[in-house]
Amino acid sequence: MKPFAEYKLSTVPALTVLERASFYGVWVLSAMVWLLHFEAQPSSPAFVTSQICVVLLAALPLALMFSRTGAPAVIKNLELFLPGAISLLWAFGAFSAPDTAPSSTFVFSLLALLSCLLARPFGLFIWLSVSLPLVVVINDLILNVLNDSLGVVTLMNLLFVGLGFSLGLANPDVWRGKVSSAKTRQSVEQELDQLRYEKNRLKSALLKTEQELEQKIQFRTEALQDANIQLNQQVALRKSVSEALVKSQTRLTQAIEASRLGLIDWEIENGKFYQSNFHHIFGEKELSSQNVIETLKRIVHTDDYAKLRDTLNACLCGDMESYQLAFRVRDANVWRWIEESGRVVDVDDAGRALRLMGTRRDIHSEVQRNEEVRLAKSVFDHTSEGVFVLDAHKRFLSVNPAYTAITGQKAEAIVGKSLVDVSQTPQANQVYDQIFEALEDKGQWQGELLEKRLHGDYFPQFTQINVISDTSGGVKYYAGLISDMSDHREADEKLDYLLNYDGLTRLANRVQFQNQLHRALMRWQNDNLPFALVLMDVDRFKHFNDSYGHEASDAILQTVAERLSNNVQRVDVLARIGGNEFACIVACSPTFQVTKFAERLFHSLTDKPYSLAGSEVVLSCSVGIALVPEHTESIEMLVRYGALAVQKAKYSGGNQIQLFDESLKTFSRERLEIEKELRSGLANNELEVFYQPKLDLHQGLIRSYEALVRWNHPERGLISPQEFVAIAEENGLISDLGAYVLRAAAKQTKQWQNMGFGDLSVSVNLSPRQLLDASITHIIEEVLDESQIAPQFLELELTETALMEDVAGVVARLKELRALGVKVSIDDFGTGYSSLSYLRTLPVDTLKIDREFIENIEHSKEQQAITRAIVVLGASLDLSVVAEGAENEEQLELLRELGCDYVQGYYVSKPLERQAMETLLENQSQ
Ligand code: C2E
Ligand code: CA
Ligand code: CA
Repeated sequence: MKPFAEYKLSTVPALTVLERASFYGVWVLSAMVWLLHFEAQPSSPAFVTSQICVVLLAALPLALMFSRTGAPAVIKNLELFLPGAISLLWAFGAFSAPDTAPSSTFVFSLLALLSCLLARPFGLFIWLSVSLPLVVVINDLILNVLNDSLGVVTLMNLLFVGLGFSLGLANPDVWRGKVSSAKTRQSVEQELDQLRYEKNRLKSALLKTEQELEQKIQFRTEALQDANIQLNQQVALRKSVSEALVKSQTRLTQAIEASRLGLIDWEIENGKFYQSNFHHIFGEKELSSQNVIETLKRIVHTDDYAKLRDTLNACLCGDMESYQLAFRVRDANVWRWIEESGRVVDVDDAGRALRLMGTRRDIHSEVQRNEEVRLAKSVFDHTSEGVFVLDAHKRFLSVNPAYTAITGQKAEAIVGKSLVDVSQTPQANQVYDQIFEALEDKGQWQGELLEKRLHGDYFPQFTQINVISDTSGGVKYYAGLISDMSDHREADEKLDYLLNYDGLTRLANRVQFQNQLHRALMRWQNDNLPFALVLMDVDRFKHFNDSYGHEASDAILQTVAERLSNNVQRVDVLARIGGNEFACIVACSPTFQVTKFAERLFHSLTDKPYSLAGSEVVLSCSVGIALVPEHTESIEMLVRYGALAVQKAKYSGGNQIQLFDESLKTFSRERLEIEKELRSGLANNELEVFYQPKLDLHQGLIRSYEALVRWNHPERGLISPQEFVAIAEENGLISDLGAYVLRAAAKQTKQWQNMGFGDLSVSVNLSPRQLLDASITHIIEEVLDESQIAPQFLELELTETALMEDVAGVVARLKELRALGVKVSIDDFGTGYSSLSYLRTLPVDTLKIDREFIENIEHSKEQQAITRAIVVLGASLDLSVVAEGAENEEQLELLRELGCDYVQGYYVSKPLERQAMETLLENQSQ
């Protein structure tokens, strides 16, 4: 059996529409005949069914026939099954037809089966078109005319079937050919011709189609080639584009690197931050958002941080699209200026930034340059010198305000004009020709010009012009500087004065003093003119400053300067070389006596009181003298020796004149050592109190004594107070030292009183500084309290100079002290400035005549007279009088005669240490 697919081709021959129509027409006709044959009742169901069958039988093939072309494959193939379907319908019709004999039914059924079986192996249409109408008609004839002669019908049908079968077996094509041969030769030939013609037609059509195809192929090939070329071109293009892209990308990267820009790309959504460049400042290449914020907070300058933070926030929230900010970041030890420009490139629906991109730029040097420019501009604008800038053609480009202030020429009026035209220098053309010639030669010119102010007078103008060259060395600009020399001259004089003279006293200052020293030395070296340096230092000047204020002290210094000036000659140089230090350089002629000269100056300062804030004060002063060439021939050493002499004078209690001598060279060092040791000595209880008795001339008894301090140095043994009291006075140790002596003396006296040695009195020395110390009253109160001594047994000795320095203050202080009940004595009376009227106002109890008057008193009528006068004075003021320094009996007797109340001196007793004094008192009381 052949496969079904092949039957399709063989069983459905290519029939023309006419052939098909005739076949189906016959078919329908036979069916109609057959149906009519049944004589069926039109109303019976069998009839209706038969009718439907007929219609279907006719309609199906017709529908198929006309829908052959263009019909869907399913419908096309239905034709294959038509014979089967027709046979089934036929059989069905036979069974359902009325009045049909069983034989007929059988025959029909058989026929149906046969046609069904045969339809497949044979050509469908051919077989059907030949056999079926024939069979139907024959059968009908047989059955109806011959009245059911079944045998004949069956035989005929079998024959017929057998013929068809054998033919079909032989070859369907032969069968088909047989069918054709049924046609006339002519028609066959016609058909042949037709076919030939058709063949030729087809051939030529084929040829044409082939040509067309070839053409098409060629065309296609060409098109393909074109397309290929285009494609190649595109590929090449694309390649070049991608190369260009790579190149441009590289170029971009290089450009970015070269431009030293840093890129930033912040994917806010993912919290990722990418940055290039500046990693040493901003950290790694990739950071998290958190890292970025922390880093910025850490490195950005606090003054800039808030602005940066707010700007970034505004961008993130969608309030800002782009920004450009300059801020400082910490780069090692420098605050580096960075400019950051950013732009939001992607936002979400709510407008919040999703991505931000930008660049960073190091603008540090730019900012600095701007700053420099700003500074330069500010200097240009504010400098007091006039500045002008000219172009290469010597025309004004700009001038500063000072230029206008000096010349009166306004910038608007002269910019663009030539310098020569603007200048009002006489013969400007000639002058400036020379100037520009010099500029061409040397690139710079400076000098003084006589200029005229706009609508004004002539003035000397200092002018300096510089050439500013371009890179090729040609003149690009001229920069000029002018200043008004008339102002300068005044200022110079003033400056000279300020540089050389002391503004307060109008004496020469330190600078001038040094110059004059040099000159004096030159005179010595060249003309053999010796000279002396006299240095004067006002004692305790700080105290004046502290208690009266600077103004009052300045007034004193002015008076000092005035008094000194009145006592020197014009050729002598008088200078103020420090706050309270004065110096005089004086030429020493052979007859000149430097000590006399120094004394004159000294007395001019100390003899007369100074009026100060309504009261009068006396100054004491330490004077030092050093000489060229006796002591040195070097200026430095001269000044140093002079200062040493002053120090020595101070060390010795001040208010004296000291001529330099070799021993002073070590003085300063010794002094420093003493200072140091005294401090530790005080702390280590190395100080001791000695007692020097005073003989009561009326009773012939020792009723009182003076407490005198001694320093029991571990190496040097007992040291006299003359060696250290002045130092303690200067460095302030005196307060502690004095308090110590007061305590010891008071305690000891109370003890001796308690031992039954009578109502003993002790006098304790109080230094000027101690007296001026506000806490002294309190200290004495304490001492009285601790020792339990009655206040009238304690006496305070104050030197005359100390009392006179500040009379008003001292009087108040003394009153305070005396209010405690203690007594006050004026020590070294007669040596200082003595004024009886002062003495009257001073609240004191005792006068202690200075040893100076007692020494050799027995040989001096004058000293005796003075002593007598003091005694009388004391008596008149109700003061007791003590004479100190009696060294022999003669002196003692003389003093008794003169009416002194007490005598203190070596003749009576040297100062005794505690135990010795106690023994003396013991012996006396027995
Ligand atoms: P001063 O107050 O005038 O004391 C009298 C000085 O003269 C004592 O020297 C004493 O030893 C000495 N003297 C007494 N009689 C004679 C004599 O007949 N001939 C000679 N040549 N000298 C005699 P001293 O103890 O060396 O004291 C010197 C100065 O030291 C005192 O002079 C006094 O100003 C000061 N001084 C002593 N002790 C203290 C003290 O505790 N506090 C203060 N602030 N100064 C003291
Ligand atoms: Ca004394
Ligand atoms: Ca004395």
